[in-house]
Amino acid sequence: MAADGHSGGSTCSNPEQSVKGHLGEPKPFCAATAPRIPPTRLALHHFDVSYSLQLKDLWPSVRAALLCEQKYGALLNSFSAVDHVAQELELLNATDFVAEAPKKAQRWQQAAAAEEAGRVESVSGEGRTVMQAETMTRAEMSPPNRASVSSNIKCYTFPKGDITRFRPARPDALGLLDYYLMDAASLLPVLALNVRPDDFVLDLCAAPGGKTLALLQTGLCGHLAANDISVSRTKRLYQILHSYIPREIRETVSVTSCDGRDWEQLEGGTFHKVLVDVPCTTDRHSVMEQDNNIFHKRRTKERQMLPMLQLQLLMAGILATKPGGEVVYSTCSLSPLQNEYVIERAVEVAETQYNIGIHVEDLSHFRTLFQDTFSFFSDCRLGELVLPHLTANFGPMYFCKLRRM
Ligand code: SAM
Repeated sequence: MAADGHSGGSTCSNPEQSVKGHLGEPKPFCAATAPRIPPTRLALHHFDVSYSLQLKDLWPSVRAALLCEQKYGALLNSFSAVDHVAQELELLNATDFVAEAPKKAQRWQQAAAAEEAGRVESVSGEGRTVMQAETMTRAEMSPPNRASVSSNIKCYTFPKGDITRFRPARPDALGLLDYYLMDAASLLPVLALNVRPDDFVLDLCAAPGGKTLALLQTGLCGHLAANDISVSRTKRLYQILHSYIPREIRETVSVTSCDGRDWEQLEGGTFHKVLVDVPCTTDRHSVMEQDNNIFHKRRTKERQMLPMLQLQLLMAGILATKPGGEVVYSTCSLSPLQNEYVIERAVEVAETQYNIGIHVEDLSHFRTLFQDTFSFFSDCRLGELVLPHLTANFGPMYFCKLRRM
């Protein structure tokens, strides 16, 4: 367990306390009566207060899911030459949720249209043919069928309620791994970005690189810039690129370690698509892991400043986008302060300070398309939110798409 992971508090092992002692300041009182509360417990307490107000009756089930083992998806590596991975996963009853979604959505719509038509038939005898036809046409035109998702991405998940684990990834003859295990909900922001052929794409907060890898799996990026302020985390991004991507494709990716907030000064207005996957309270991590926990007392200020940092990063993302280009903002937190409020504030700042009009795109079709894989919150004012659920333990994942007018 980490040094900050004790709950007993009967020793002076708190790094903050020891440091002060070394600096010659008066040693803080070290008593068995002053137990330190582990950051995971602080996080849970904080969430109990705020999320029970936001999610109301849903909170107990979301809470239980957050405290249980999360589910993974296997993002297939199209660059790996390992054979039969898809068949192997299908034999285990896993399915490619990206490919399955539109097919399922179409079946649901047909069923709904048939049901509706049945109701019409039973209500009125005459004129029903015209009304049936109208109902079908409306159903066929409804958002899920019109919406497109980057279908080159293949990600296998086990069905709802099935908690089978994936085997570890295997290398092909050249050492490229066959799949990447990740929270499948993390793919939704990438799918929402909807990369088109030859798009210039910026991944502003890219490390350790799960979403960068997914962006590369679309095979559509004309150029991909992957940035992260953290040098150590950028090293992990390099490792992922080396483990999954052949050299000739890797060389088309530019990896930088800049403060994303300064991006405009480097390359403003040049990208078709920008992903802004910001640092956040990483809710699942915060209730489960003591290490690197943002609810540690010494990180209180940093945690309180997160919405400001998120807003600054989102603004940098908007300014990096060409007019007409699109930005997807995402977090792995349930907090409206880090989600919808950041979006609202960014729209306001873009308009008032930069004279840039922003349109918040409707992503509600994602809820229909992916309802069989994820549990979505139905009351998000802007964007979409995946709620952890014991039968579909992905997320939290918030994502919202903005178009620069
Ligand atoms: N997109 C990544 C993925 O899918 O693997 C996860 C990104 S993580 C949620 C947020 C990242 O933001 C962290 O790696 C952190 O180092 C980075 N970050 C924090 N402050 C930043 C800043 N000012 N500029 C750029 N990156 C920053």
